[in-house]
Amino acid sequence: AFELKGKTVFVAGHRGMVGAALMRRLAREQADLLTASRSELDLRDQAAVNAWFAAKRPQAVFLAAAKVGGIVANNTLRAEFLHDNLAISSNVIQAAHANRCEKLMFFGSSCIYPRLAPQPLREDSMLTDPLEPTNEPYAIAKIAGIKMAQAYRSQYGADFISVMPTNLYGPGDNYHPKYSHVVAALIRRFHEAKISGGGKVVVWGTGTPRREFLYVDDLADACIHLMKTYSSPELVNIGTGEDISIAELALMVAAAVGFRGEISFDTSRPDGTPRKLLNVGRLSGLGWRATTSLVDGIQLAYRAYRADCAGRHQ
Ligand code: GDP
Repeated sequence: AFELKGKTVFVAGHRGMVGAALMRRLAREQADLLTASRSELDLRDQAAVNAWFAAKRPQAVFLAAAKVGGIVANNTLRAEFLHDNLAISSNVIQAAHANRCEKLMFFGSSCIYPRLAPQPLREDSMLTDPLEPTNEPYAIAKIAGIKMAQAYRSQYGADFISVMPTNLYGPGDNYHPKYSHVVAALIRRFHEAKISGGGKVVVWGTGTPRREFLYVDDLADACIHLMKTYSSPELVNIGTGEDISIAELALMVAAAVGFRGEISFDTSRPDGTPRKLLNVGRLSGLGWRATTSLVDGIQLAYRAYRADCAGRHQ
């Protein structure tokens, strides 16, 4: 088992939704937490990352920094999604190794699995078939990060592990009108429609794609559990093991927000991969399962949205 107590722990990406949830969860671990804001440390800058690691020497690293976004962001900012994510993973993993970091957790994504891989997606389906085109640049960068963590383990014995979270949502999500993920997008759109007196809400695509959604604080809890107990080159999926259609999701968000108007679907928008549900057998065998239901999680996310963002985004 790996002890976090008393260790110097670097959360890379602590301002993001995942990093912020890790910070909340790590507050219970009596670790010495290190963070670096983007203005202090640009993780795409190799020299800066090397200098920072040499000075701070973290004993454990959660590599939750990434350029992320929803289907439109992934599909249009293709160069940045590939370049920034490759650079961040490469710089941080190499610097962690060079500075004798004892343990590192790399965050992949469920989009690393082939578009038409058998569902629920098993960890060993990585690299068995072509990827979903809308997020291929992101997926390629994440697959490279997984392979790096595995290579430093096999060549140098580094205790670097990789987790594959499913689609995430919760406090600290990005509510950008174009670049956000679906849960944040729908929370904002239904909220704004309700505030402006009802009307119609447009949902992208056909409504038929199926997705699995995990509340981000559940993800953070799973990550702490795995950081302490898991040491293997094999990836671990982190999800709930349940999925729903986008049309069903839209009804759930509408109910949570209290929107009673009409919902329509814009089929000129991309659907993306038809289904993305993780097989969570490995994770449950390791003694962890999700506890926040989607209904509860959407309520919590909506509450956080109103507290933090509604003012700013109206
Ligand atoms: P994906 O899992 O990588 O496809 O990420 P997204 O969260 O961006 O999209 C999930 C699904 O929700 C896709 O089928 C989208 O077409 C659909 N969707 C419906 N409305 C929206 C929206 O307003 N924003 C986004 N990002 N997706 C939406």
